[in-house]
Amino acid sequence: MEDRFIRTFVLFCILTIVFGILERFWPSIPNQPRLRRGLGTDILYWFVTPMVSQILAIATAAILLLPFYLLIGRPLELNSILAGYGPIAKIPLWQQGLIVIFIGDFIGYWTHRINHRMPVLWGYHAVHHSAETLDWLSAVRVHPFNDMFSKGLKAVPIMLLGFSPLAADLYSPILSSYIAFIHANVPWHYGPFRHILASPAFHRWHHEMDRRAWGKNYAGLFPIFDVIFGTFYLPLDKQPREFGIDGETMTENFIGQMLYPIHYWKTLWQNHKANKQLLEKES
Ligand SMILES: [Zn+2]
Repeated sequence: MEDRFIRTFVLFCILTIVFGILERFWPSIPNQPRLRRGLGTDILYWFVTPMVSQILAIATAAILLLPFYLLIGRPLELNSILAGYGPIAKIPLWQQGLIVIFIGDFIGYWTHRINHRMPVLWGYHAVHHSAETLDWLSAVRVHPFNDMFSKGLKAVPIMLLGFSPLAADLYSPILSSYIAFIHANVPWHYGPFRHILASPAFHRWHHEMDRRAWGKNYAGLFPIFDVIFGTFYLPLDKQPREFGIDGETMTENFIGQMLYPIHYWKTLWQNHKANKQLLEKES
């Protein structure tokens, strides 16, 4: 736990310097305030996400995997679980890690898309979209339920295929830094390769309030999934400008954001009941 905190702290300090320079000299939105609303909350997320959300996500994956492991007769012993199994476990760990990233991004595309389409799941994904000033710090503003759902669903098929969970963790500092990069206030995309690898311009459009950008750019790393499934959107002549959630109010208080899904689900339930009563009266 202490090790994880130190690693997170060191990574956070390095990223503060790197993105401090990038956002200062190559901004997508010039003069975007740095000392902005929700800054303290987003810094808190940088430490809560790896310390708490990751552990909750691992616990969720373990609970989901348990019946499958019992069914296929895998031993429930830590060393055996960490080793993976079958022909895939024989592939070097660094190569397993690369394959896991690709498969994980395909699953991530669909879990992200479902988060947007199902009102009950939007209750927690709205927390991630609530940042009105989008910069590298807002990348990890993610409700723990969000992590539990998407990481839990990624872990089940990946581990059942025989991959080692260590492979999934191998590139996590690089992936965390890259996720921060695609939220950063910089205007870049990869030109002719913009359909292959997610860029800040690509992902910042996913957060844009303009209706033309709604329901677009779900992939975390490989926009090719958006191209294949018809959700790719990256205009080259302009940059996204307005971020946040339409018609909803979100507190910038950390505890308030943790409780937001409960408040949202209560409102959904009340609206559902009111509609039901109205239909009953009319019939
Ligand atoms: Zn989203």
